[in-house]
Amino acid sequence: MVIETASAKSAEPTYGGSSEQTRHKTQPIADDSLAQKWLQCLAEISKHVNNQSFKTWFEPLVPIKFEKNELTIQVPSQFFYEWLEEHYYAVLRTSIEEIFGQDVKLIYAVAEEEYLAPSPVEPQQVPLEGAVLPEGHPQRQNHIRASVRREDVEQMVREANLNSRYTFENFIKGESNQYARAAALAVANNPGGTSFNPLVLYGGVGLGKTHLIQAIGNHALRTGRARRVYYVSSEKFTVDFVDAIQRDRLSEFSNRYRSMDILIVDDIQFFSGKEKTQDNFFHTFNELHQLGKQIVLSSDKPPKELKGLDERLISRFQWGLTADIQPPDLETRIAILRKKSEDNGVDLPQDIVEFIAVNVTTNIRELEGCLISLLARSSLENKPITIELAREVVQTIVTDVRPPIGIEFIQRTVANYYDIPEDLLRAKTRKQEVALARQVAMYLAKELTSASLKTIGLHFGGRDHSTVIHAYQTIEDLMKNDETFRNALLQLRRKIELTSR
Ligand code: ADP
Ligand code: MG
Repeated sequence: MVIETASAKSAEPTYGGSSEQTRHKTQPIADDSLAQKWLQCLAEISKHVNNQSFKTWFEPLVPIKFEKNELTIQVPSQFFYEWLEEHYYAVLRTSIEEIFGQDVKLIYAVAEEEYLAPSPVEPQQVPLEGAVLPEGHPQRQNHIRASVRREDVEQMVREANLNSRYTFENFIKGESNQYARAAALAVANNPGGTSFNPLVLYGGVGLGKTHLIQAIGNHALRTGRARRVYYVSSEKFTVDFVDAIQRDRLSEFSNRYRSMDILIVDDIQFFSGKEKTQDNFFHTFNELHQLGKQIVLSSDKPPKELKGLDERLISRFQWGLTADIQPPDLETRIAILRKKSEDNGVDLPQDIVEFIAVNVTTNIRELEGCLISLLARSSLENKPITIELAREVVQTIVTDVRPPIGIEFIQRTVANYYDIPEDLLRAKTRKQEVALARQVAMYLAKELTSASLKTIGLHFGGRDHSTVIHAYQTIEDLMKNDETFRNALLQLRRKIELTSR
């Protein structure tokens, strides 16, 4: 038997697992004998692989046609095809030979991505593609599950705490993220049914982790593959957990989380050091996993490098699939900028797209921020979008990584300078020395931060804004009349400006 991949480009199929495949829009053909034979084939395969692998890799296959001794089966994605070839070539070959005959050729057809993308769910029943498949065919059930009304879906997306903007359609594929994206799509198409459980995506800030893990939830809900989905950050999980304990509602809390079809927890690194929360999450994880429900996690590092996390949790995080997202390469950055400017109804000139993509390299959130600022400045200041304007914007985004000076930092430095305990600045005392330090700190807070008079007053023991004005005036007068004081103050100010950054 020869295994081939169908090629859309040439009539002659390419041999030996070439990566050229048909982008197939084909619906499965209503051919009872083919369907029957395929079921026999699946039965044969199921004798040789474990249940989980069978569900993951064989149930999603769809027989398309069997003609002239060529069997065409549809696989959901390129990734899927590669995985099958690498891990299950032998079992697939022998089972197919057994049922379809010795010299049968196998042709893979990679489903077009639209085939996988959520079909818009209409208020009426969705046509059941599965109807052409025989009773008992696993795909059939998937399609039947897709009959959900649109309003219900919108409601479910809201309840799932998902941002409906985070979809696979809006996610630009590139070398840096394609593995993570393929794994996410496989999970979204078959939640709980693949061996990717849990699916853990990890990578640096602003690279699309939250986007991808939410896309899983959005896709699964919109295609009817899951009904109960919940997205939560690990911080919110922690806060809710503590709150549940305080209000004596722990079982309600646990039941809620444990009733999900897909539970998505973002930024699990923040579970670090929170032992009780981890303990609760451990049990939630086990219960969901046992029920065959899908767990999706994101993290800033691979699970085994997470510090402050219980070993038994880390080992469970490694049960499924861990996939990383790398910083995007130049091509992907350009594609992202193009897509986002299009979404904003702007046709950005190529040289400007490239200028931004070359300069903003590490973080997609910054890339987006740059584009938004550029569009905003051009429309607010009524300037054309030029390279010069792009340069100004890029400079603010790329170099402006310095955190703003905080009032607390000013208070600490001033208290140090006057050698008094910091909290005296916030106390009611009117002692001369403290009063001067307090006025200096208020003055510097006004000068160095963008905080309002009211906010500054609040930081100094809830004093009134008029007290802050008075302090400011007093210090200005002192500076005019006392050269030594003035120099000392300027030095202090400089110290704060330098050390806060
Ligand atoms: P992370 O969670 O890894 O910090 P996010 O998922 O919040 O990153 O992504 C930051 C921003 O960049 C989001 O607005 C997201 O939509 C966007 N983004 C990230 N990756 C892509 C991509 N491949 N295609 C389109 N937008 C992306
Ligand atoms: Mg995130």
